Amino acid sequence: MNYFAHLLFSFALVYGLLYAFSLIAPIQIPVNLQTIAVIGLGALLPDVDHPKTKVFKLIALLFLIIGTAFIHSAFFSSGHEENLNNSLNAITGFAVVFNQNVIAWVVSFLAALVLFGIILLLKPKHRTITHSPLAALLFAAAVALITKSVFYGITGFAAYTSHLLVDKIS
Ligand SMILES: [Zn+2]
Repeated sequence: MNYFAHLLFSFALVYGLLYAFSLIAPIQIPVNLQTIAVIGLGALLPDVDHPKTKVFKLIALLFLIIGTAFIHSAFFSSGHEENLNNSLNAITGFAVVFNQNVIAWVVSFLAALVLFGIILLLKPKHRTITHSPLAALLFAAAVALITKSVFYGITGFAAYTSHLLVDKIS
């Protein structure tokens, strides 16, 4: 099933459930960015184990950007100002700092790339761990913790489970 069908089914299912629930309980059906993000993520995240999916590509891109920035800040962030102060003049100093910066960023990026390659080798097979009720529960717990809301946790669980259902029937 493609990502669009997963999104469509998750939104239909979660909002259908919310609507049904609103008939018997005094709740407001939430239409906000946070709810949409939780449903969208829950609907797509299970396929992160599949290299051909959009989620995988998006997460790969985010991983490289964040990984590069993280490695750079952890290993290369200090010392540039010192070099600038010790230099004879500002222009030479700038050139030195600029060169060091470019090299530092390239090294950081390569390190992030290697790290990603290692993760890729350890990655589970398609439709195994990420396509399990345990993963749905973990996702729900993570959402509830991050948003500090049980409601979002349950919403996330429903969205994630809907993905597993769609995979089962298709
Ligand atoms: Zn799937």
